[in-house]
Amino acid sequence: MKLNKNFKNLKENYLFAEVSRRVEAYSSAFPNSDIISLGIGDVTIPLSLKAVDACKDAAIGLSTKSGFRGYGPYDGYAFLKNAVVDYYKMRGVEIHADEVFVTDGAKNGIGNFLDLFDSDNTVMIPDPVYPAYVDANILAGNKIVYVNATEENEFLAMPPKKGKADIIYLCSPNNPTGAAYNKEQLKQWVDFALENDAVILYDAAYEAYIDDKSAVRSIFEITGARDCAVEFCSFSKMAGFTGVRCGWTVIPMASPLNRMWLHRQAIKFNGTSYVVQKMAESMLRGGYEDSKKMVAAYKKNAKIITDKFDALGIKYTGGIHAPYIWFNCGVDSWEFFDYLLKKARIVCTPGSGFGKNGNGWVRLTSFNSQERTEEAIKRFEPFWKEFIDVRDKLFTAVR
Ligand code: PLP
Repeated sequence: MKLNKNFKNLKENYLFAEVSRRVEAYSSAFPNSDIISLGIGDVTIPLSLKAVDACKDAAIGLSTKSGFRGYGPYDGYAFLKNAVVDYYKMRGVEIHADEVFVTDGAKNGIGNFLDLFDSDNTVMIPDPVYPAYVDANILAGNKIVYVNATEENEFLAMPPKKGKADIIYLCSPNNPTGAAYNKEQLKQWVDFALENDAVILYDAAYEAYIDDKSAVRSIFEITGARDCAVEFCSFSKMAGFTGVRCGWTVIPMASPLNRMWLHRQAIKFNGTSYVVQKMAESMLRGGYEDSKKMVAAYKKNAKIITDKFDALGIKYTGGIHAPYIWFNCGVDSWEFFDYLLKKARIVCTPGSGFGKNGNGWVRLTSFNSQERTEEAIKRFEPFWKEFIDVRDKLFTAVR
């Protein structure tokens, strides 16, 4: 037996595992400390009752002769695919139900999609970014080139003047930086992909957080995108489905990837559960207002954080179109993480865990409750003032 030799190329500690390890070490040393997590990107608001009712109805249906369902379609039930089509239509984007593939979440969709590509492609990935793209490509043994997202381009990586790519990952609104592309910026990526005969794998897991026209919700709003893009979306952060598990992928019919993906799913996937698809449908139909309220609550928390950062003069991106606030601490991100935990008992995510350009930066999330977010921000103000005083003496500077 020969093991996948690419495993040894992965970093030993997955970012969030290392965050948990450090938090556990701190909690066991100080068992009574009241730690607030603004770190990991999991939601906290309970499910909408609309989703729960849909779950109950579907489960009861399964116990009846007429409502029973066995294996479902590999690409999802028509009721959910049509709901997704209508969701896009509401925003003026026309897609066809045969272009929608229901998944058990965006992460699986994005990772598994690599099955469709040869291993000698050049894969372009922004730095910093959601770590799953890099790790999935390392496991597949693919050649990765990075495009820089830095303070200079407001953490929105743009196509390089020179350089080629076959597969391009974009994430907007971005995890970790919260930055979101506007139409002109995304058009440059679409043009670059078309010139390179490349595919853009567009991760729109946070599209529900965009509520005005200054940022793009779907890459299919951009002319030319239907000839070069695939879009991944998720119910996780728009409807609290991180544990329920459901997402969708849009692959234009004209792309060979559409039929290939159906074939791949038929080989390796027996579909997302019927009950979960019913729950997901409810969040795009009768429960849509509840989903909007959930998103609004997280955005309110984000504003609590960014208002304080504005007052303290802290440089940041995000918080407007995203549940993430990405701020500059100017020092080694892990050193800052430890200091914030020790001094204010707040858990953040060190920016360096998302790529080399993330060092000196920190990600906070707005997924905790309003009360805990307010408490964290109350602690943060004195912490920050003290940190500024000792920053040059105690920490490794990152410029
Ligand atoms: N894409 C991005 C950018 C994410 O941040 C996450 C989760 O944090 C995912 C995808 C995973 O989404 P899902 O829960 O649908 O698998």
